[in-house]
Amino acid sequence: MCVFCKIVEGEIPCNKILESDEFLCFHDANPRAPIHLLIIPKKHVENFQEMSPELMSAMTPFIQEVAKKMGVDLSGYRLLTNNGEDGGQEVPHFHFHLLGGTKLSWSHFTPDDTHKAL
Ligand code: 5GP
Ligand code: ZN
Repeated sequence: MCVFCKIVEGEIPCNKILESDEFLCFHDANPRAPIHLLIIPKKHVENFQEMSPELMSAMTPFIQEVAKKMGVDLSGYRLLTNNGEDGGQEVPHFHFHLLGGTKLSWSHFTPDDTHKAL
């Protein structure tokens, strides 16, 4: 079972923000911004390539509710998903990172030396 499935099952604790029948949002264990949340489907879906349009669609209002709950719906935030090996995905369970609470630069989510490779 993957680490996020263990969180869904309650085997690994998380700092929960919002939960529905299908989705869960909790704080990232290694925050890279004042607000850094993870939003996942409870069902194990490996990455974006495996997401159905139905599940993706159902996720939209859940994410919007998270943004409202965190008070960043108007100030702005960044949503991103690392997809597969080249995308830097470490946990093989589809998730969005929601970052906010400050004016974000690109370097908020890239290693310091990444720009040198571009
Ligand atoms: P990825 O690189 O797959 O897009 O991001 C995985 C994220 O999951 C990382 O930002 C990492 O800090 C976070 N993470 C990994 N394991 C755990 C965990 O057990 N609990 C929480 N809350 N976050 C985790
Ligand atoms: Zn999983």
